Amino acid sequence: MQVNLKNTTRKLCIIGDPVVHSKSPLVQNTMLQAMGLDYIYLCQPVPRGRTAQWLEAAKEAGYAGFNATMPHKSALVPLMDQLDEDARLYQSVNTVCIKGNELYGYNTDGRGFLQALLDAGVDPAGKRVLLLGAGGAARSVALKLSTQEVSSLTVCNRTAEKAELLCKLSPRLMRAVGFDRETLRREAARADLVINCTCLGMTDAGGEFTDFTFLDELPSAAAVCDLIYAPAKTKLLAQAEKRGHVTLNGIGMLVNQAIFALELFTGTQLDRKVMRALVERVL
Ligand code: NAP
Repeated sequence: MQVNLKNTTRKLCIIGDPVVHSKSPLVQNTMLQAMGLDYIYLCQPVPRGRTAQWLEAAKEAGYAGFNATMPHKSALVPLMDQLDEDARLYQSVNTVCIKGNELYGYNTDGRGFLQALLDAGVDPAGKRVLLLGAGGAARSVALKLSTQEVSSLTVCNRTAEKAELLCKLSPRLMRAVGFDRETLRREAARADLVINCTCLGMTDAGGEFTDFTFLDELPSAAAVCDLIYAPAKTKLLAQAEKRGHVTLNGIGMLVNQAIFALELFTGTQLDRKVMRALVERVL
């Protein structure tokens, strides 16, 4: 990608460890160029345990802001001067704006996910949700859904303790169960929306669902969502589509959370439809 640097160009970046695989620089620079905004978005490795040192360096170097991925999202929380509601709810920051000496922490993951669902015509209100996985992504999705009047939220995870820990955040709404074939079949029969938040089916992650028969139990009107965006159509989505379910992949979430972050960094409103089409083309 060709970039046009000026002496006035403001710096943005993503921090993480590891971070070189990140698609954020490609996504953000594509949008910045399309909008003619005088910013550059870089990839910045920051080792675990060095979050506070990075914040001082970023302020000194005049960064306008940055995104954060593993392992900095929780470490940033106590270091912010202000937190938005989602960052406080998730106890996780993925977007930081630096204004003068002040640090503003946000989390755009849940908002990005919810917007992607709504864009696909899937309103979670009143739905019985079956969430597969209990890692970082599942946490943002579950907590966002817990504010959307879903009817119930069942968390299926291979490691039971992690599902139980997540469900403790909203015990009235959330219930932890296992990830075995029979449990998945039983829970699918009473679900209106299935969301895969595991890495099963992701390119290079080395795992795949061994059994898709739980999809046979799903009510026909149920929708199936996969947070994975590479490949764009996972085996889970292909199998759900074959059975006639509405499906959506993780591209919408990826693009939306990036758009919301860029709006925060630059104070410019973006046309989500135009940006999504653009980003899908470069991805
Ligand atoms: P994570 O914190 O590492 O969690 C991984 C989850 O996958 C855990 O629940 C883990 O279960 C489960 N898992 C892994 N291998 C498994 C296996 N062989 N069998 C059953 N379960 C297995 O990762 P994450 O950050 O939450 O990300 C999860 C997925 O979401 C990834 O594919 C990522 O690409 C995607 N994601 C997409 C977006 C987006 O913008 N579209 C954003 C964030 C994440 P255990 O607890 O038992 O280990």
